[in-house]
Amino acid sequence: MYDVAIIGAGINGCACAHELSKAGKRVALFDKEGIASGGSGAAGAFISPKFSKAGELKEILHTAFVYSMSFYEKEFPKLLTKSKLHHIAKDEADDVILHIYKEHTDLELLDTERQERESISINAGIVNAKPLCLAMAKSAQFIQEEVHTLEYDDGVWLINETYTTKEVILATGAYKQILPEPYIQLRGIWGHRIDIETTTTNAHSIHQFVSISPSKDGKLAIGATHNVHYHPDTSTEVYNVEEGRKELLEKASRSIKLENVKVVKDYTGLRSGSFDYMPLVGSLVLSHETLQNKNIHFQTKKPNFDEYTYYPQLTMINGSGGYGFVLAPYLAKILTENILLGKEIPKGLQPARFFARWAKKL
Ligand SMILES: Cc1cc2nc3c(=O)[nH]c(=O)nc-3n(C[C@H](O)[C@H](O)[C@H](O)COP(=O)(O)OP(=O)(O)OC[C@H]3O[C@@H](n4cnc5c(N)ncnc54)[C@H](O)[C@@H]3O)c2cc1C
Repeated sequence: MYDVAIIGAGINGCACAHELSKAGKRVALFDKEGIASGGSGAAGAFISPKFSKAGELKEILHTAFVYSMSFYEKEFPKLLTKSKLHHIAKDEADDVILHIYKEHTDLELLDTERQERESISINAGIVNAKPLCLAMAKSAQFIQEEVHTLEYDDGVWLINETYTTKEVILATGAYKQILPEPYIQLRGIWGHRIDIETTTTNAHSIHQFVSISPSKDGKLAIGATHNVHYHPDTSTEVYNVEEGRKELLEKASRSIKLENVKVVKDYTGLRSGSFDYMPLVGSLVLSHETLQNKNIHFQTKKPNFDEYTYYPQLTMINGSGGYGFVLAPYLAKILTENILLGKEIPKGLQPARFFARWAKKL
């Protein structure tokens, strides 16, 4: 019997495995393909804040950015490349946003070269995506198997009619939900990034139309596209790799002149995004049972999440969009403190918020 079974070995699942193993828990980590085989294996993985004016997402990404930079530096220093990040506005509207951001941020601002557009430079980093996931998963028992069934009986979850565990964490990214609930809707946004060889040397990360990494051994990474038209499960045509490369190189060329370019590797995958762009962390509401409860008033502006019925000993971590590697250490901390110590998860992160909105509309 495991203490916790985590389903999905992307950065979210692996970060939870790392936290729980550190706390002495017996952890099983399931993945149908392998560690970092989903969106996480495709990521750049640039660690940066969100350069926007205001909002809940900006705030959580700021906190997560500060937390994850020091987390990676302390726990996985060899897998973090610290570098200056030079973020340049895309257009006039972006100039204004960046100007406001710079006036209000408490991040240390570095000197920037003068640009036509507003720009900002900060200390940031890039992690080595797959080796990081592998290192985080090291103390868990990895089981390469697709999870088809989850049954709960008498305080224990039974997985695929074979494995028993006290707790389950669903970290399945943009893939099919194992316990489909109508109020959980995640969209998978296809992304493509490339590694190139070039004679041009780039000293630091540049973010503008795409992200460009600093040069390392004559190579640099460019990423990523946001392709809302292609989805591996629903598209009838095969993904056009050449078009993706062209788009990435054209966007990169608007920020830096790259010479003698040869694409040496392509990475593609799905990011999982929620409809309010905030991640989903915490217990999953049993919608059918909760709707039966005649004492709950669903037509309210202030829903009381404590009134809902939840799947027992089961939580999820998902919806990190294009910021999975920024968010994962911070979200895994929040989730594991909830599981181990009963610490409350902020309402704006809980999947229950989607249940409340969905139930109100019924
Ligand atoms: C091209 C690209 C570039 C990106 N660049 C960055 C970046 O620079 N910085 C950044 O922070 N983020 C970046 N991201 C986003 C980041 O990769 C994602 O936010 C992150 O990978 C999400 O992690 P996850 O663990 O939620 O999902 P995933 O990594 O997709 O993991 C989910 C896993 O669950 C497994 N699974 C699903 N269902 C089952 C089942 N039933 N049984 C067993 N296993 C199952 C899948 O096989 C998969 O491995 C990028 C994404 C893409 C696609």
